[in-house]
Amino acid sequence: MVGGVPVGGDNPITVESMTNTDTSNASETLKQINDLAAAGCEIIRVAVPDMAAAKSLKEIKKFATIPVVADIHFDYRLALASIESRADMIRINPGNIGGTERVRQVANAAKQAGIPIRIGVNGGSLEKELGDLTAEALCESTMRHVKMLEDESFYNIILAIKASNVPLTLEANQLLCQKSNYPLHIGITEAGTPYRGTIKSAAGIGALLAMGIGDTVRVSLTGDPVEEVRVAKEILQAMGLRRFGLELISCPTCGRCEADLIDMAQKVEEFCQQIDAKITVAVMGCVVNGPGEAKEADFGIACGRETGVIFEKGKIVEKLPNDRLLNALIARILAE
Ligand code: SF4
Repeated sequence: MVGGVPVGGDNPITVESMTNTDTSNASETLKQINDLAAAGCEIIRVAVPDMAAAKSLKEIKKFATIPVVADIHFDYRLALASIESRADMIRINPGNIGGTERVRQVANAAKQAGIPIRIGVNGGSLEKELGDLTAEALCESTMRHVKMLEDESFYNIILAIKASNVPLTLEANQLLCQKSNYPLHIGITEAGTPYRGTIKSAAGIGALLAMGIGDTVRVSLTGDPVEEVRVAKEILQAMGLRRFGLELISCPTCGRCEADLIDMAQKVEEFCQQIDAKITVAVMGCVVNGPGEAKEADFGIACGRETGVIFEKGKIVEKLPNDRLLNALIARILAE
């Protein structure tokens, strides 16, 4: 359990993100957490680079509506302070905090608080003695950290191996699954700007999910974290693992299309983001093929030369001028 959110087993795969505010500024960080929660984020991670951030976490935790994970590098005192501030999970690599005694203190504090520890290994944090950046080395590094916690009889663990290279991430996670049964947080790290990062994340996370690997997902984008949440939800929805709301189908258009379908599809997509109904909506470019091509849609529009149609499950239910189709479609969806 990360706060009130179950992770692993048959539980729904969760959507995570990370704030990019200064954690020591509690109000600014809380505002971003609220925005992310409203967008569908289910677990949020905040960076804890210093004691001011660890203390601020206490204030953040009082008001945050989703579980908050403290992300700590190297400093076990920050881990202890974050647990004291009631973090719902800490992310720290026990092999990097300076010895068994410190690991014991952190493991005991987490055990007493009843919170998990996430071990997160990525290409940049690989120990030098493990040599080149390979799937085996990433996996070996992760299992070393795991052993340090298990030696303290601590088993409330979530694991993550990430690289910015998709095939390497896939191979390392497959290997890890053969060696461990702990829940996995998955993602492609430093995936890039929203365009490239979305594609890399969809390829990497999608492939892992298709293999049945992954319990919680974070998309990493160089951009607004709200975009990360939207992309993660779309990946889970596309893989048929979660259903978050309206599913939109739109045709790519071709020489038969006689309307500005790109603009129409964008408007329907904007509308869809505000609706939380598990229905499928289609926006198609021509009356001849559109209703048939999208017959699995609950509602759809297909444009004609001047007059288009509204269809439901492939059956035409109304004929209207093209410029009235959009509003009529929205009215039908809202009436549902
Ligand atoms: Fe072309 Fe019509 Fe198919 Fe769209 S629905 S791709 S316009 S044939």
